[in-house]
Amino acid sequence: MMQVLDITPKRWQDSLKQAITDPQELLDRLSLPNELLDQAKAASQLFPLRVPNEFLNRMEAGNPNDPLLKQILPIGDEFIQTPGFTEDPLNESEARPTPGVVHKYQDRALLILSGACAINCRYCFRRHFPYSENQLSGEHWQTALAYLKGHKELREVIFSGGDPLVTPDGRFSNMVADLEEIPHLERLRIHTRLPVVIPSRVTEQFIDTLQHSRFDSVVVLHINHANEIDDSLRHAVTNLKKSGATILNQAVLLKGVNDCADEQIKLSRALFSAGILPYYLFLFDPVAGASHFDIPIEQGKKIFAQMQKSLPGYLVPRLAKEISGKTSKTLLISS
Ligand SMILES: *Cc1c(COP(=O)(O)O)cnc(C)c1O
Ligand code: SF4
Repeated sequence: MMQVLDITPKRWQDSLKQAITDPQELLDRLSLPNELLDQAKAASQLFPLRVPNEFLNRMEAGNPNDPLLKQILPIGDEFIQTPGFTEDPLNESEARPTPGVVHKYQDRALLILSGACAINCRYCFRRHFPYSENQLSGEHWQTALAYLKGHKELREVIFSGGDPLVTPDGRFSNMVADLEEIPHLERLRIHTRLPVVIPSRVTEQFIDTLQHSRFDSVVVLHINHANEIDDSLRHAVTNLKKSGATILNQAVLLKGVNDCADEQIKLSRALFSAGILPYYLFLFDPVAGASHFDIPIEQGKKIFAQMQKSLPGYLVPRLAKEISGKTSKTLLISS
């Protein structure tokens, strides 16, 4: 019988459901040594393992140091307690005027659309976030809208999470429509990793919503390593650009993943050839359970200085740190 290749894109919801959450399955799929299992099981109790197949397929089998694997593999180091590494490193609990809204900076506010993510990144500063109290479901959505309406200094709404694109397209476009009723809002920004880890998330309906919105839209992706960029992602970005949205990237400097100038330079080039501009390169937030990803600020500045030397200005992201209580992200200058 003839073998028929299935080239129809999978529904992104199916990909979400089929994401790998069992440490044993992860190790088997990547032919990794079973010695990693006990640690992986233990640390996944702190923060569950979750990785979609589309992302796993970009990892190198048999390589425990794969830079994509390191972002998602639960390890024993997560039990290390380091002074200064806390559950709420950005003091977000103090900046929430109403559930699901984080308003720290003058002309833009962040809306927490969903607590869920397609992938669980071990270094995430939201690994301890009390999402159950802070989702914009039902009555909270109305309170959030009232807050935005009452704050005329706001020009931009940022959909964040978790991952805001876990929200189904229908509900997403209703939310955008509600926001369009608020006259002082001009821009819509979406911070998401979903199109990176499940490129089929860039649906026609999503593109259509952005394209027909009165808002100028910005999609900020989260890609830390050039190996995350494959043909399916390039294709998704090409489609997304039809909406007219500006596509940017933010990355985090992570020990053992991308903490050298060569990798960062490669990333900037790969982003550009995929149609994405580098926006921020963040120094790691001191989140409890992830101190093993931290690198010294001085090293970050050195990497940055080399990037500046090697790349055109438009491919150099802003090296930044979030310091709680400030009126914007804090930019760092190279040494
Ligand atoms: C990071 C962040 C923003 C966006 O900051 P930009 O510098 O505009 O990218 C907005 N609100 C909050 C609460 C943030 O943490
Ligand atoms: S919020 Fe972003 S960084 Fe954190 S787990 Fe979700 S996708 Fe990863």
